Amino acid sequence: MIKTSDLKKAFIFQGFTYNRPRRKGDGLRLFCSSYRRGCKALVFTTKEFNLVEVTGFHTHPRPRLHYCCRDSLK
Ligand SMILES: [Zn+2]
Repeated sequence: MIKTSDLKKAFIFQGFTYNRPRRKGDGLRLFCSSYRRGCKALVFTTKEFNLVEVTGFHTHPRPRLHYCCRDSLK
């Protein structure tokens, strides 16, 4: 798992990026960055952006991230 330098804007898990965090109970819910293209995958995290749950599945390949490393794509 990687986190971007700006935790408030994006969360990265298994090579997919999630953004637009919304408060959800005691934690946060983030939408896939391709939500507008029809991807309904979501992640739930704590307020500290620690992963809690992943729901849905992606309808697209992983985005190319210039700062991504192969070891993170397991
Ligand atoms: Zn997606």
